[in-house]
Amino acid sequence: MTAPTGAVLPGTAPGESGPTEAEWAAAVAAVRQVPAGGRVLLVCHVNPDGDALGSMLGFAQGLRRLGVDLLQATFPGPFDLPDPLRGLPGEEMLVPATEAYPDPDLMICFDAASASRLGELVDRLDTAGAALVLDHHASNTRFGGLHLVDPQAAATSVVAEELLDRLGVPLDAGIAECLYVALTTDTGSFRFEATTPAVHQMAARLLATGIRPGDISRRIFDHRPFGAVRLFGEVLGRARLEPAAAGGRGLVWTYATQDDLVRHGQRPYVLEALIDSVRCTAEADVSCVVKQVSAHEWAVSLRSKGAVDVSRVAVALGGGGHRFAAGFTGRGSADEVMDGIRGQLDDALVGSEDQV
Ligand code: 5GP
Ligand code: MN
Repeated sequence: MTAPTGAVLPGTAPGESGPTEAEWAAAVAAVRQVPAGGRVLLVCHVNPDGDALGSMLGFAQGLRRLGVDLLQATFPGPFDLPDPLRGLPGEEMLVPATEAYPDPDLMICFDAASASRLGELVDRLDTAGAALVLDHHASNTRFGGLHLVDPQAAATSVVAEELLDRLGVPLDAGIAECLYVALTTDTGSFRFEATTPAVHQMAARLLATGIRPGDISRRIFDHRPFGAVRLFGEVLGRARLEPAAAGGRGLVWTYATQDDLVRHGQRPYVLEALIDSVRCTAEADVSCVVKQVSAHEWAVSLRSKGAVDVSRVAVALGGGGHRFAAGFTGRGSADEVMDGIRGQLDDALVGSEDQV
């Protein structure tokens, strides 16, 4: 039995279903209505990851094929990408945030769950002729005027691919490489819960364009400087296991300081992969890496194996994300950030929301 499009499926909480047909139609119309000579600004979230950048640059190439000439892609903060994300097709459309159109005809946001993830570019939500939000975070605050938010989608690139399809843009290898980077990033290379049959079907469509998954995966995931390997050794060596935390399901965590980066001559992005080495700890459901971004500010990555909904922890602390992967910006010392997390774990145990 097929549910009518846009209907709330049985067992699905309101807000968890994907975009309605009306929302798809409005998004298609917004793109088609860009006037000749109109400027389109694409923005993804601060500290872009593979899904943010890949879905944005994949979509940018599609817009170019549709004949949009005045097209910029950007992200807030320093104009600096992690080495593994450099060299993607469409990269030439990237501009620093300081050069982004001040009042584009259309703004499209990628993978940002809230307006705060747009950093200094947040003002474009007011100055743009229209603002369209493509995302897959259940915590999305619907901060634009038009929304394609699908919490069931494994990646924002799933939403981007469907919008390209509805706009009549066929996949080519350039678009596919970007969307593949996005899809593999957010599914952990097809290992996470979100890896549905539809995800593999999308991967098949992307691979059919001739892109090389081995080369792409090596470049994106299996490639880091020797200094980063040594840095990981040190940071993992100070990991702590707290078996009693999270109602006895266990917490494992570590932290990395700016001094650690300096001593090993590394850039901050290398720390993004650390959580994968921490979260495999068998004795803990919840894992956490606290990464210093300035004297009293920390970027926090949280992961769960299912007993705890870490998006609830992150949202309570001012961030967002998904049930199994979430994050927020912590303030104070690393210990203070960890105390804040410990204080939220019990409330975020799955099932605790039913006990009033
Ligand atoms: P990561 O740990 O890989 O940086 O992020 C995991 C998930 O949490 C991603 O879905 C990401 O979008 C979300 N996330 C990470 N940091 C933040 C944050 O500071 N604010 C919000 N709203 N979401 C975040
Ligand atoms: Mn994503």
